[in-house]
Amino acid sequence: MSEEPLVPVVCSACGTETDVPLAEVADTVERHNERLHDGEDVAEVDPELTDQLADLVAEDMGLLGEDA
Ligand SMILES: [Zn+2]
Repeated sequence: MSEEPLVPVVCSACGTETDVPLAEVADTVERHNERLHDGEDVAEVDPELTDQLADLVAEDMGLLGEDA
């Protein structure tokens, strides 16, 4: 049981992929882009995972199973 899920952050410019605790993802991405890419949005959460997370979050919030 891991308390903190790790999220892969990829940077196409640096060619890196780093696993970051979910709680630190936003900070990590922002810092990386500020330090290495003059604040451009180069590094980002793995797009494949973003889709999965969106589904998970939607499910978690009951959006998928809710009757309109
Ligand atoms: Zn980078």
